Amino acid sequence: MNYANQFRIKTGGKVDLGKIDADYHGEYENEEATIGELEKYTRRLSELQALMYAENKHSLLIVLQAMDGGGKDGTIRHVMEAWNPQSCNVAGFKVPTAEELAHDYLWRIHKVTPRKGQITVFNRSHYEDVLVVRVHNLVPKQVWSKRFNEINNFERELANSGTTILKFFLHIDKEEQLRRFGDRLGEPDKQWKISDADYTEREYWDVYQQAYVDAISKCSFNYAPWYIIPANHKWFRNLAVSQILVETMEGWKMKYPEPSVNLAEIKQKYHAEVAEEQDLPAAVEPMVKEEQPKEKKGKKKGKKKKKK
Ligand code: AMP
Ligand code: MG
Repeated sequence: MNYANQFRIKTGGKVDLGKIDADYHGEYENEEATIGELEKYTRRLSELQALMYAENKHSLLIVLQAMDGGGKDGTIRHVMEAWNPQSCNVAGFKVPTAEELAHDYLWRIHKVTPRKGQITVFNRSHYEDVLVVRVHNLVPKQVWSKRFNEINNFERELANSGTTILKFFLHIDKEEQLRRFGDRLGEPDKQWKISDADYTEREYWDVYQQAYVDAISKCSFNYAPWYIIPANHKWFRNLAVSQILVETMEGWKMKYPEPSVNLAEIKQKYHAEVAEEQDLPAAVEPMVKEEQPKEKKGKKKGKKKKKK
């Protein structure tokens, strides 16, 4: 199954979250059934990231949004497992600081978008400014309602500069949320996450869902699509997100850059002599062979020093 097609929200399409089954798990019976495929995607994501870094042409921005307990942290843990930390990072967005509030709402976002060759995962994002901000009337409607357009323009500008933007709404249902909060009560490594607000925010469930529907349906474009991922099953969520990432990155048809030097010349200039001395074909681990006599010298020096 191609989840990029299945879960992608068409531009201007109507979204009815109530009709999207958060329990959906495709053709897979259970976690075990996904393991082989998931490992394959993880290996592929690793190769694709190395290529992306070398090519230094594309940027990838992954936006994760969900209700509390929706699995943003778990998704991050899963997808980042495949990647070299050198060229990927996570940016989390919490209640804005005084400094952030003194700027426009996209200021803190734009500062941390990925450069070329890099992947950035957003744990929450500028969408909070049309979600929590709307639900709790943190700014008047006339302000937040203009933001859909502003966000679209902002994302288009990023896309025009070589950034691919993938936005995932991890869709859980209200019962699953309560189940996860309940599980946290019994897990010492998760208890720190529990807050009163998690429970009081549940009262706004429907208002949040409506805010999500508007944000997703007004802001899904080919250059920055929204995907609604059924996420009650963590293993299915990981599989679907991984598959969409692989498909997107493969679509770039990346290539390693051509070497910037003449390899034959380099081989001749720096490796031929060593190869001749040792009667080895050129470029067969010459560094290792060369280092051994040096080590002996080093040891002698060391001994001399001790005598002094
Ligand atoms: P957590 O992701 O659990 O660490 O919580 C971060 C909190 O910051 C959530 O309650 C978000 O709703 C809140 N938050 C994130 N962005 C904004 C924003 N722009 N305005 C107000 N609250 C925000
Ligand atoms: Mg939270």
